[in-house]
Amino acid sequence: MSTNTESTKFTIEFANRLKELPPYLFVEIDKAKREAMAQGRDVINLGVGDPDIPTPPHIIEAMKKAVEDGANHHYALDAGLPELKSEIAKWFEKRFNVPLDAKTELYPLVGSKEGIAHFPLGVINPKDKVLLTDPAYPAYRPTIQFADGKITNVPLKASNNFIPDLKKIESINNIKMMVINYPNNPTAAVASREFYEGLVRLAREKGFIILSDMAYSEIYFDGEKPISILEIDGAKDVAIEFHSFSKTYNMTGWRIGWACGNPTLIASLAKVKSNYDSGVFQAIQIAAIAALRSKDEVTEDIRNLYQERRDYLINGLRGIGWKIPPPKAAFYVWAKIPKGFNSSMECAKAFLDKADIVATPGNGFGEGGEGYIRMALTVPKDRINEAVDRLKKIL
Ligand SMILES: *Cc1c(COP(=O)(O)O)cnc(C)c1O
Repeated sequence: MSTNTESTKFTIEFANRLKELPPYLFVEIDKAKREAMAQGRDVINLGVGDPDIPTPPHIIEAMKKAVEDGANHHYALDAGLPELKSEIAKWFEKRFNVPLDAKTELYPLVGSKEGIAHFPLGVINPKDKVLLTDPAYPAYRPTIQFADGKITNVPLKASNNFIPDLKKIESINNIKMMVINYPNNPTAAVASREFYEGLVRLAREKGFIILSDMAYSEIYFDGEKPISILEIDGAKDVAIEFHSFSKTYNMTGWRIGWACGNPTLIASLAKVKSNYDSGVFQAIQIAAIAALRSKDEVTEDIRNLYQERRDYLINGLRGIGWKIPPPKAAFYVWAKIPKGFNSSMECAKAFLDKADIVATPGNGFGEGGEGYIRMALTVPKDRINEAVDRLKKIL
């Protein structure tokens, strides 16, 4: 047997499904960011959608105890601990006034992105039409492509508060699924009850599935709580909603979330998942129970922190002549690029090259994001002030 590479008779290549993925638009900006950091420049990173604050201590304590218990070291039940599921159902009913059957209407996930990524494989057949908003969180598109779905873009426009136009959806035939995400990443928009009602009515009439991503359900400002699509009458006939511990409890690295809604949709996802993973590490499930039992102050403190940062950034930028409507939820500021820049990428490059500030160019979320830039509120106040001071010099 020869291990000589010269004798290899074929070239290893990525599968077509990988080759067909859209190009990764952040390559250049990532490279520039790494170079800036390597040069020891004092970079302010407003680019990442990952909380800078640690997980609350009572959750970490619950995890420590659970890790030491050998009973938690085995394969977990795919369907999750019954205690976790009943705690999620309790939390959901308290928060949204929607009862969930813990056995059939909810399912734990290895982070909500995992569930969102696997879900299309259980419901989408080749060429099925899937409506995706433009801009959108970048994780949706590849997973629909992997399932051979055909994507139709639905624009999110500032003139419609970054909510899809229901009249336009009404005119589209043979829709299999629509993906929505409110509070929205990247636009920070919140959907109204009227929008959800109209969408559920259309989905029931036309017969399509709604995938609602609600990762930012608890990150909202000015006391205005976003609603769940499952609050709408009849939504459970057509919708599945994805929830996450990541943003609510600063647990991005822990990898846990859940799906809830229509039992057939949940069952399809459970079946796909049973062929990919073997559940969430039980100690993490136990920590998640502790998270759901947190005092209200835990999430209030997190909200207040982002709200304060939001006000610092929005007021600071207004002070230097850049007026941006304050976001009502999520931890992003979605801003039209200032005058003098021709594209999102040009703006992001100038921020980095001239002010050592990383922000995400809007076109990375789809063509509909061109002309915008996203700044994450995931740095402390003093860094936000510093960012405003630096921008003052270049704008
Ligand atoms: C952060 C984020 C997620 C991913 O959440 P995980 O539970 O950590 O996988 C999902 N959707 C959107 C829009 C996000 O911004």
